[in-house]
Amino acid sequence: MELSDSVREIKGIGEKTSQLFAKLGICTVGELIGHYPRTYEVYGNPVPIDSLKEGQIAAVEASIATMVEVKRTENLQLVSCNIRDASGSIRLTWFNQVYLKHMLKRGIRYIFRGKITRKNEDLVMDQPKIYQREEYRRLLGVMQPVYPLTGGLSNRTLQKAVSQAIGQANMPEDYLPRRIIKENGLVQHTAAIREIHFPKSKETVQDARKRIVFDEFFQFILKLRQIREKCQAEKNRFILNETEQCRMLLENLPYKLTDGQKNVISEIQNDMSGHYVMNRLIQGDVGSGKTILAVYALLLAASNGFQGCIMAPTEVLAQQHYESIGQVLEPLGVRVCLLTGAMTAAKKRDVCAQIASHEVDVIIGTHALIQEKVEYHNLALVVTDEQHRFGVRQRESLANKGGHPHVLVMSATPIPRTLAIVLYGDLDVSVLTELPAKRLSIKSCVVGTSYRPTAYRFIEKQVAAGHQAYIICPMVEESEEIEAENVTDYTRRLVEALPAGISVASLHGKMKPSQKNDVMTRFAKGETKVLVSTTVVEVGVNVPNATVMMIEDAQRFGLAQLHQLRGRVGRGEAQSYCIFVNGSESDKARERLEVMNRSNDGFFIAQEDLKVRGPGELFGVRQSGELQFMLADIYQDAGILAAALKAVDSMSDQEREQVMTLLGRSLPLSSTICV
Ligand code: ADP
Ligand code: MG
Repeated sequence: MELSDSVREIKGIGEKTSQLFAKLGICTVGELIGHYPRTYEVYGNPVPIDSLKEGQIAAVEASIATMVEVKRTENLQLVSCNIRDASGSIRLTWFNQVYLKHMLKRGIRYIFRGKITRKNEDLVMDQPKIYQREEYRRLLGVMQPVYPLTGGLSNRTLQKAVSQAIGQANMPEDYLPRRIIKENGLVQHTAAIREIHFPKSKETVQDARKRIVFDEFFQFILKLRQIREKCQAEKNRFILNETEQCRMLLENLPYKLTDGQKNVISEIQNDMSGHYVMNRLIQGDVGSGKTILAVYALLLAASNGFQGCIMAPTEVLAQQHYESIGQVLEPLGVRVCLLTGAMTAAKKRDVCAQIASHEVDVIIGTHALIQEKVEYHNLALVVTDEQHRFGVRQRESLANKGGHPHVLVMSATPIPRTLAIVLYGDLDVSVLTELPAKRLSIKSCVVGTSYRPTAYRFIEKQVAAGHQAYIICPMVEESEEIEAENVTDYTRRLVEALPAGISVASLHGKMKPSQKNDVMTRFAKGETKVLVSTTVVEVGVNVPNATVMMIEDAQRFGLAQLHQLRGRVGRGEAQSYCIFVNGSESDKARERLEVMNRSNDGFFIAQEDLKVRGPGELFGVRQSGELQFMLADIYQDAGILAAALKAVDSMSDQEREQVMTLLGRSLPLSSTICV
């Protein structure tokens, strides 16, 4: 049996089961083998009934003490009976397994294994599995794999199929050079696969896991390296030299650039006038002044006679960029347009026509830049702002719109080094380490809900001093399931709590784009003093006159997200404040929020967040289908990641060639990246 064979080749797997497998993304024997257990169950010796505790999964050996009862409710059939051993008795319950009524006879002994839960006052064993004593003996002490499943597919079916596949498939030769295996203390690939599914012991399964995690990282990085080499070898067809307009832009800025900004500008300049295409990521904390760098690059493209575009993750941000970038570039003779999904079809057609005929130089927009049928005219530069909302593939599909344009990516969340390698290993990286001078650091506090009246009085004072405030609520409107502050009701209450002279507005994602725009514009102009909003303002929004950020139910947000929200203030020269309102009683929530109090450093906060939530949620990459390592965890396995990185970069040309050849016939292990 070959790894590329269909799972139908495995005995006992017919049409129906293979369809269920397909739901899990398993079509071939190799994919089946690459479907690793989620965890393991160890079947322990049966214990006396009176020692059972709530929450535990345990086995007992006991005899059926009562008749099996079947209770029918509207859509369920509840099957139950009591069992007894020398120490006591307990009730067993099952759903919809009516056949048990005929199978379980009073007085007969079985071993029952299941989860102990509490119903009303009593402990019950929920959905126990039933074994004969001999049958159970054979399972005792063995680590049984528990697989991710889908409705209709049982763990036993999957387990049997994997066991057959491993027994019969032709496993390929190990693709890793012996040197790398030795240097990293790894076990052989085939042994690791066998062990991860059917481990001999806790220790050996750790070794197996280490090898597979290493493989996942190794292959991922190898692919990223290939992409990078491909990009770096891409000839620059848009050689862009500094123009008079570029010099004017820099001379007329209302502030002095930081050293970091100056460095990045010269890096961009070098890249764009060099032999090869630019592929650069700019990393910098919130408020470090990334936008101007994008503006410079866009101007470089436009003033050399080409087009450039910038893609933002939200309508609100695209609109804001359109206004602020337009203000800077139009006086320099650059024609700027906006393209977003929310525009009317007629308007979009109009804008697309202008783009195609090169009546506009700089195009600012949302996803519409990829989704709409846009034909660019000599697109020389693609910028994506606040990158964590976009995946690698989206970045690529925009870059593919032109004939190999330069690519500039601006990250929203500062990313710890290990993660940067994985997310952006295909890019050159610039880091802005400092915030513009004269910025006072934002004063933060974590408070309970009883602090609200004080906070409102504080906001009143700030407004009286000419400033503005944001208040963030997690929800748009009241929900029955979740108890959290919502924008709609909150605004109503806030209007009552604040003096009549203070204008309050609300903003959320469910509003029409034109409404959102109006609200944002009035806030940016200072007409509205307090903006009650959902997280639609999370990224990019820039209203430097706002000095207070108050976040309700702050415990509901991730730390990196809170840092982004806090970054909406502290953008001007005045002292700014951030009030995190903890709407929960839990100590854990408070401890987590205290991190925000202690630190204003996005890199540190992202690292802390990564510990708690993992990279998928933190960077929104899980939804985009990337970074789906089967076993590897970027945070927990950072050590292995570093080792894999070193191993990839240490390979001689000859070793690398050998690896590539062998990998060609190896397991489709890395369901990790699609390029
Ligand atoms: P981010 O890095 O979060 O995207 P922005 O580019 O939006 O930050 O910049 C935040 C604010 O700082 C803007 O109002 C911008 O005009 C201002 N700014 C940028 N660079 C400097 C600088 N060198 N000195 C003072 N203010 C600056
Ligand atoms: Mg920004």
